[in-house]
Amino acid sequence: MQQVLLLNSSYEPLHICSWQRAMILALKGKAIVLEVEPNRDIGAGHQMPLVVRLLHYVKIPHKDIPLTRKNIMHRDNYTCQYCGCHGDLTIDHVIPRSKGGKDRWDNVVAACLRCNVTKSNRTPKQAGMPLAKPPVRPHHFITFELSKQAVQTHTNRNTMTRWQKYMFWS
Ligand SMILES: [Zn+2]
Repeated sequence: MQQVLLLNSSYEPLHICSWQRAMILALKGKAIVLEVEPNRDIGAGHQMPLVVRLLHYVKIPHKDIPLTRKNIMHRDNYTCQYCGCHGDLTIDHVIPRSKGGKDRWDNVVAACLRCNVTKSNRTPKQAGMPLAKPPVRPHHFITFELSKQAVQTHTNRNTMTRWQKYMFWS
């Protein structure tokens, strides 16, 4: 089923919905279609929508992204931040807990078991194992959840490419 990225009137991503739901919003005059899939006719002169934007602003409460294993893995693309491999991933504390390192977004990274064991109780500098990129807190809850959902539901590459420019809202 074709999925549609639903944006707030501010262009902030809100949800992923079905194309039918998106078309109902558009036909009722509640949303406008911003991106369509060319050459995919869905009848009555309409093309398959990919991104729609609400005309009225919907207020959404701020939410923090929970620091969970799954979320850390998603942020780091299921990639070891030391060697770039994808196997046997664990969570590494950049500054080890034994040295006062905290459970915080900027102190945890995905690391393969081998790198984690090699690094052991040392900082990246002490171990001579530089990080691929400094770990940061992902700031936008909905964008983060949407990208996670897109990965889980195997949203096709073409759709993701068309969504991408709206996914970095902050
Ligand atoms: Zn590794």
